[in-house]
Amino acid sequence: MVDNCLNIANEIKGCTLCSLSKSRKEAVPGSGSFFAEIMFVGEAPGYYEDQEGIPFVGRAGNLLDEMLQSIKLNRDDVFITNMLKCRPPSNRDPLDDELFACSQYLERQIEVVSPKVIVTLGRFSFGRFFPGELISKSRGIPREWKELLVFPMYHPAAALRNSKYKDALESDFAKLSELLRSSTETSNESTNREHYENPKQLNLF
Ligand code: URA
Repeated sequence: MVDNCLNIANEIKGCTLCSLSKSRKEAVPGSGSFFAEIMFVGEAPGYYEDQEGIPFVGRAGNLLDEMLQSIKLNRDDVFITNMLKCRPPSNRDPLDDELFACSQYLERQIEVVSPKVIVTLGRFSFGRFFPGELISKSRGIPREWKELLVFPMYHPAAALRNSKYKDALESDFAKLSELLRSSTETSNESTNREHYENPKQLNLF
């Protein structure tokens, strides 16, 4: 599995599928644990990410780090990536043909990392999973998508601009923490139940 994630990252670094490859300094495949249960999906690299080849290292990234710390996680516990792996000039919104060209990489990252929860950061990322829906109505509510949960949140850059979004982001991180805690408890309970109901079978291992 590790090999697959590295292969995808190498392909992204050499990608020329859209014109952003001509203006980028560094492609930004993603960072964190290939075994993460939570994957964060942002919009696209900005100036600092393009310089360093690492997602969320600018001001929005500092806020994301702060939010992660508030629920006792850090970058190594999660996988962080973006819809677009290369910076759009002047940080403009992603274009449809860029999103289309890049979508296979995110698809493959989801398949390989196989997270339990995908946290979408911002409307572009949310729209990838639930096209046409409003993030303002959907944020903070986990939704089933295929075999996993999608947890929509506002983008940290929006939270930097407006305290209303920052409050929402803080409250959604607290909800995410609660969701993770209750799903760990449920899986511990079912392991205990299984142990109680099938003690012999489990003892075989
Ligand atoms: N904004 C994003 O959406 N992604 C980054 O990596 C940085 C800022």
